[in-house]
Amino acid sequence: MNIEQIKVGFMDVFCYLVSCRKTKEALLIDPAGNEEELVDHLQNKGLSLKYIVNTHGHADHTCGNEKVKELTGAKIIMHEIDDRVFSTPEAYAMARQWGFAPSPRADETVQDGDIIVVGNLSLQVIHTPGHSPGGICLHSDGNLFTGDTLFVGGIGRTDLPGSSHEQFMRSIREKLLALPPETVVWPGHDYGMKPSSTIGYEKATNPWLGV
Ligand SMILES: [Zn+2]
Ligand SMILES: [Zn+2]
Repeated sequence: MNIEQIKVGFMDVFCYLVSCRKTKEALLIDPAGNEEELVDHLQNKGLSLKYIVNTHGHADHTCGNEKVKELTGAKIIMHEIDDRVFSTPEAYAMARQWGFAPSPRADETVQDGDIIVVGNLSLQVIHTPGHSPGGICLHSDGNLFTGDTLFVGGIGRTDLPGSSHEQFMRSIREKLLALPPETVVWPGHDYGMKPSSTIGYEKATNPWLGV
């Protein structure tokens, strides 16, 4: 499994290029800016992009979907709830107001426990509602892509429309902190002192977890 962490856009979003060394198939998690560079980069590496996967439907994470899909033909995957919630005329208007291109509807939707397969890799979908109702983390081979749920030294906001702090803390405690401590945490924004962490380190040091 090959993981590349790439900072994109003006919101310091971390996009991830995840690829199978053997088959050269790849997926992009939250390609939210610098779309043409991203596509050039993956094509130069000889990778073929199968999926665009969004950790959640917020426009700062989905704004590159349309362009990357147009350039590569990759399919968009999102949790079924966020696909629905963030494709209304009101959500599109809000995205545009913030300066983001709204995402087209997902080509495939996922739920908790689903597996996304790229080449010889499989990524398990963990539904972690709270920051957004259809937020997901992706778990594969000791790696956890946490979107806006868990940051290095921080957690996602729960004061937004559709957020629930209670649901959020339950998602973190029951689904993320239950993973092995050596699991590598790959966050959705560059907010921390370092670009990645582990479940064990966050459990021990993240002041927001209250454990
Ligand atoms: Zn968000
Ligand atoms: Zn975000």
